[in-house]
Amino acid sequence: MRIAMIGTGYVGLVSGACFSDFGHDVVCVDKDARKIELLHQNVMPIYEPGLAELVASNVKAGRLAFTTDLAAGVKGADAVFIAVGTPSRRGDGHADLSYVFAAAEEIVAALDGPAVIVTKSTVPVGTGDEVERIVARIAPDKGITVVSNPEFLREGAAIEDFKRPDRVVVGSEDEGASEVMRGIYRPLSLNQSAPVMFTGRRTAELIKYAANAFLAVKITFINEIADLCEAVGADVQEVSRGIGMDNRIGRKFLNAGPGYGGSCFPKDTLALLKTADDAETPLRIVEATVQVNDSRKRAMGRKVIKAMGGEVRGKTVAILGLTFKPNTDDMRDAPSIAVIQTLQDAGAIVKAYDPEGVEQARKMLKDVEFTASPYAAADGADALVIVTEWDEFRALDLTRMKGLLNRPLLVDLRNIYPAGEALRAGFELVGIGKG
Ligand code: NAD
Repeated sequence: MRIAMIGTGYVGLVSGACFSDFGHDVVCVDKDARKIELLHQNVMPIYEPGLAELVASNVKAGRLAFTTDLAAGVKGADAVFIAVGTPSRRGDGHADLSYVFAAAEEIVAALDGPAVIVTKSTVPVGTGDEVERIVARIAPDKGITVVSNPEFLREGAAIEDFKRPDRVVVGSEDEGASEVMRGIYRPLSLNQSAPVMFTGRRTAELIKYAANAFLAVKITFINEIADLCEAVGADVQEVSRGIGMDNRIGRKFLNAGPGYGGSCFPKDTLALLKTADDAETPLRIVEATVQVNDSRKRAMGRKVIKAMGGEVRGKTVAILGLTFKPNTDDMRDAPSIAVIQTLQDAGAIVKAYDPEGVEQARKMLKDVEFTASPYAAADGADALVIVTEWDEFRALDLTRMKGLLNRPLLVDLRNIYPAGEALRAGFELVGIGKG
């Protein structure tokens, strides 16, 4: 199959590289000339484990190419995937579809024969219908069809998720288009028997939002249970374990923490609420989730202040982990931003260390001293705060840390340190949901 991937970000680049690894011919297109230039030099514009090797081997095999020229990239393609961003629209929280529609117009104008346009970006219900209208307006006779194929990969484990997904969802109203999609995903279903679920296009679009909203609800639920644990003297990790062993509930997404962030959950829950409003079917559980999560991030900053005795003016806080989760450089809507802002608003001085996120963090955080190691962050600080659970924070030399800190206070917003270990090293430990 010949595939064009429009948008070479976290989703487009990983999807394009994995499709080429399956044996398809893939051209990745991006209008950001810097990204394409870097990719030509085999430098990854984003951090994702294993991606550089995957890209290099498929470029070498002649199956993967990069260009800024969309018209050239889509020529002769069986399928053109749209994987551009769909951020929140400024002001109202609706998904901003301007990038999707602009890409669709360019694709339709450039295609020289029948092809399937596949929306991989997360888009509200009805977006496929709108793309179909673009086709009808610009090129009704080229044999172009439109399907939805939302992406479920997680940053930090994106290649594994793409190659061994729990499921692939395809929303299609056209048998010929479904056949092309079957061909594209055949290598995956052959090897790993990942179920490819075919459904209606509007249903596929909604599945993506419903999935993200459900996961956001699950995280927020356990976060509120964590607060209750603190109030009544229970341990949220044990509660999670106790409920997660029930298969109807499941163990995943039950780690209490500083609130969800990232490039998907915050914007997708908001966009789903807008869709629900427009359809006059309010989703009250999702509304509550959004509100609870929003206030939680600053509450985590206040939790640190409380642990430090209620007054942090002029005191130094060392933050470990800035990205919204480990193994990515993505800082979009990371909880660390609100935590740091709250500390700075209260007059604290912030030093921070992150293994991959500093380049992006510099653009979003003011007056933060970024350090080259966790120990440099701790040097002279009055508290050590773990915000993102990077592996390298799991086995810190606590004795060395204690020697560097003014006060051996560890606020562990991810519960990665067992109380015994921290206490033995002479630390005061404040975790999440540890009553
Ligand atoms: P991103 O911002 O990392 O990448 C989008 C890319 O599209 C950018 O490089 C941009 O330059 C390019 N672009 C925009 N308009 C273009 C055009 N007309 N032609 C060519 N290139 C264009 O975004 P992302 O994180 O990869 O997300 C893409 C979509 O996938 C979003 O809808 C997102 O919600 C969804 N999604 C993301 C994830 C994730 O973990 N990041 C997971 C599942 C779904």
